[in-house]
Amino acid sequence: MAVDLHMHSNASDGALPPEAMVALAAESGVKLMALTDHDTMIGVSAAREAAEHFGVDFIAGVEVSAQWAGVGVHVVGLGLDEASPAAAEFFRGVGQKRAERGIRMGEAFEKLGIKGAYEGALALAGNKNNLSRTHFALWLCREKLVDTYQQAFDKYLKPGRPCFAIVDWPSVGEAVDFIRGEGGIAVVAHPGRYKFPADWWVEMLLRDFRQAGGLAIEVSSGSQPVDMTARFAGLAGSMGFFASMGSDWHSSRSDRPGPGAQPKLAEDLLPVWTIFGYPPQFGLETEAA
Ligand code: AMP
Ligand code: MN
Ligand code: MN
Ligand code: MN
Repeated sequence: MAVDLHMHSNASDGALPPEAMVALAAESGVKLMALTDHDTMIGVSAAREAAEHFGVDFIAGVEVSAQWAGVGVHVVGLGLDEASPAAAEFFRGVGQKRAERGIRMGEAFEKLGIKGAYEGALALAGNKNNLSRTHFALWLCREKLVDTYQQAFDKYLKPGRPCFAIVDWPSVGEAVDFIRGEGGIAVVAHPGRYKFPADWWVEMLLRDFRQAGGLAIEVSSGSQPVDMTARFAGLAGSMGFFASMGSDWHSSRSDRPGPGAQPKLAEDLLPVWTIFGYPPQFGLETEAA
């Protein structure tokens, strides 16, 4: 697939600067892309310029951290204006929550006798307002305190583990209101990844999301199990959502599909890029490398 509407740069927790992220996407055969960093759009203008240079069509994006029923849920916004002062204000608020959480996580590591985690993670993030659990995981790897990146989450960083710290993220409704208020399209990111007490909860989430004005779901995502694609294709069809897709690429450190290499969308779905004026079959003819 040569469309990828979910990727990260080092403006959040990705490994590559926006320009290099776009270069990799272009090299991988992506023809239409969105950069969707967590809670910031500071990488967007550099990415757009690079996309023009490489002949890749580009949609500005962001992945908003939100919560629903006490579970962290991500809402992608597509087509926002990265220069909007109101958006900057929204991201500043979320960034403060990230900064404050980082301190609490550092304290939790200290309690376990692990010193310097906060400073180490912050140095990798470059900015306390985009400090991510990813940066803590990378620091733990670098210090050889874990064997693998995944082990950092499983041992310390996942909900229920000792260094997980709750954040009062915006509700899903607030995230959707924000995205719509900025003229964007709200998309539930990787709906197959949330750890709910029962399978049917995700359908409640999607109902609430639609009620709030959300229009699309990621039917295909590099960060949810491949066998979820059919389920969410069915739900997109039956609930009347536009279908989005993206690799959720961060770096080569994981075995996730590369840019554009997430599962194909079923042809009977209505792709979200039609809202941006691209034909349904846009990019579907060529396979990404
Ligand atoms: P944050 O938004 O700072 O809480 O960090 C969340 C990021 O950590 C996600 O965007 C993923 O990149 C990564 N992540 C979250 N949970 C896991 C997990 N269980 N295993 C591996 N990576 C994860
Ligand atoms: Mn991430
Ligand atoms: Mn996500
Ligand atoms: Mn993501």
